Amino acid sequence: MSTPAVPAKKTAMIKRILVRCPATAKLTPTGLTIDEDLFADTPLKNHKLTCPHCQQVHAWTKKDVVLAR
Ligand SMILES: [Zn+2]
Repeated sequence: MSTPAVPAKKTAMIKRILVRCPATAKLTPTGLTIDEDLFADTPLKNHKLTCPHCQQVHAWTKKDVVLAR
């Protein structure tokens, strides 16, 4: 019995980019979004955001990112 190959349908998974506030440990939306498939290949450097939790400016890089739907 054979199963016909069903082509995997690629749907873009657009995720919101959140970073964790180092002062309050709360997740903070950066206002940026990214296609999850492209995330691995996308360099994210030298970004900053003004944190709504602690009012400080946080510099963040890719390793700080949490993707959320
Ligand atoms: Zn903060």
